[in-house]
Amino acid sequence: MRKVWMLFAVCLFATLTPAQDQDFSKVQMKVSKVAGNVYMLEGDGAGNIGASVGDDGIVLIDDQYAPLADKIQAALKGITDKPVRFIINTHYHPDHTGGNAYFQKQAPIIAQDNVRKRLETGGGAGNGGSVHFEAKPAPHEALPIITFDHDVTVHLNGEDIRALFFPAGHTDGDSIIFFPHSNVVHMGDDFVTYGFPFIDVEAGGSINGMIDAVAQAISQLPPDVKVIPGHGPVSSLDDMRSYLTMLKATRDVTAQALKDGKTLDQMKQAKLLDPWKKYSGDFVNQDMFLETLYNSLTGLKTGKLIKHN
Ligand SMILES: [Zn+2]
Repeated sequence: MRKVWMLFAVCLFATLTPAQDQDFSKVQMKVSKVAGNVYMLEGDGAGNIGASVGDDGIVLIDDQYAPLADKIQAALKGITDKPVRFIINTHYHPDHTGGNAYFQKQAPIIAQDNVRKRLETGGGAGNGGSVHFEAKPAPHEALPIITFDHDVTVHLNGEDIRALFFPAGHTDGDSIIFFPHSNVVHMGDDFVTYGFPFIDVEAGGSINGMIDAVAQAISQLPPDVKVIPGHGPVSSLDDMRSYLTMLKATRDVTAQALKDGKTLDQMKQAKLLDPWKKYSGDFVNQDMFLETLYNSLTGLKTGKLIKHN
């Protein structure tokens, strides 16, 4: 899981430090069929790629890091000779959009309005505490050329591939992608399996928005749906329910401590999140998640919210 951290950190700085400093050469793309005509491509901790593959071509969900683009392309060639028709970004983070410039030479990129804005301007990402990165503006050719406010549907491969916007969750531009015919959902980083999630409070993310997004997605999905998390192996609706329970419980215990007048340091010292310590990881440990909850609930260190069109 340290790799996730490293890759994420490195790639947010990818425009500051040459990409070749990071050894992507050993990364192997793992391709697996999820259900129906949807595949998942994994590459060593980077954001999971979803791919609808059929007679009409490929619809790609996210495209990981730029140095991996050739490998992603090769992996797709192993599934089909058909062309990429569209790419949808679940959110702006570079471990999900790094291949944009490469793939937009082949097909248009679609994303929620705020994804384009954040890629265009660059800026701070982090939990308002000890997790912080600066992202440089993405090059023009990496910007999604089709954007939407609330939702968009791509009708290809006998599927109604629907990207639905959920405000202020992992970031302020998250979409969850539904493949109803194949019975698959790509959750973006609103649902991850590496432990406590990273919430980009500085880019308009919030714990309450993430809870709402996951709860709403669960309520809309059939019980046997296959779930592609932003990071981690294919999961079930029950996995999402456990995750949601953890999000709510940790939010509630922090909200109560705030009500009781506790400071962040006092909460850390009291090990407020100890009952959920199995979620503490190398990427987001217990203290980091507590900072996230604290900053999100107090609104103290949240970043500038990007105004909608
Ligand atoms: Zn992310």
